[in-house]
Amino acid sequence: KQQQAASAAQQPAVTADGARRIEVAANVNRPEQVAAALQAGAEGVGLMRTEFLFLERDDAPDEEEQYQTYRGMLSALDGKPLVIRTLDIGGDKQVPYLNLPHEENPFLGVRGVRLLLRRPDLLLPQLRALYRAASHGPLSIMFPMVSTLAEVKALRAQCEQVRAALNAPVVPLGIMVEVPAAATMADRLAEHVDFFSVGTNDLTQYVLAIDRQHPELAAEADSLHPAVLRLIAQTVAGADAHGRWVGVCGGMAGDPLGAAILTGLGVTELSMSPRDIPGAKASIRAANLAELQQLAQRALNCDSAAEVRALTGATA
Ligand code: PEP
Ligand code: MG
Repeated sequence: KQQQAASAAQQPAVTADGARRIEVAANVNRPEQVAAALQAGAEGVGLMRTEFLFLERDDAPDEEEQYQTYRGMLSALDGKPLVIRTLDIGGDKQVPYLNLPHEENPFLGVRGVRLLLRRPDLLLPQLRALYRAASHGPLSIMFPMVSTLAEVKALRAQCEQVRAALNAPVVPLGIMVEVPAAATMADRLAEHVDFFSVGTNDLTQYVLAIDRQHPELAAEADSLHPAVLRLIAQTVAGADAHGRWVGVCGGMAGDPLGAAILTGLGVTELSMSPRDIPGAKASIRAANLAELQQLAQRALNCDSAAEVRALTGATA
């Protein structure tokens, strides 16, 4: 039984009719987690949160240390894809030694790329390390908390400068879609990026105006809320218009019903905590693509997350 379950987890996530294959990847916070992710059935890493390399220490890892880390991850992945997200500091992740000014509203402040674009001393060593590592495997770079086209253009320019200086290979550049502005402007942003990955944790927080860590409101901060689903549908439409792929790396990707709805919405990659991989794969395999598309349409027309949750079993 256990062996059967383990081998099912290693199989690809294809809908029952064979019409759609979803790439199932893992979210990792530390390089040591890659081996366990592969064992759980991950086909790659869809989100490496590099801020964890900066936490619980007294100074920032330099370019060389980061390069060794990223290269080591590519080697552990042995040809499987790796999406590394640049530092996402601010909001809930604070780093004492960076001495950043106190903010009244850190989730609405200098967070993610807003910080990186102000701090070349953080951005450039990380980009150099990433481009040096890129010749050792299939690496993509992803930027957190993007909300404007101007940010995308500025980041691309920085990347190209670093790449050219190192004579490094071209690397796919993607952005997190986790601010409502990025979702609604997806058709414009898609022209300038290679892929999107929807961060449903932050997207839910920002579209419902509920702090993602709020103890009292936690039950209402459900990513399956139709307001979130509509933004994801808009993101997919914008990406499709330019032939870009869309993944989801927030918690919704690892929720079996979430994975089914996202597949129906046209998302083609799901990145999740390794422990969620078997359940999400099973959910995708349980229905035909057309059924999942109908499920997604019904979810978009619900009035609340609770109503969407009540659609469970609708695919059977
Ligand atoms: C998200 O916001 O959904 C996400 C994946 O990023 P993080 O949880 O690291 O903010
Ligand atoms: Mg986020």
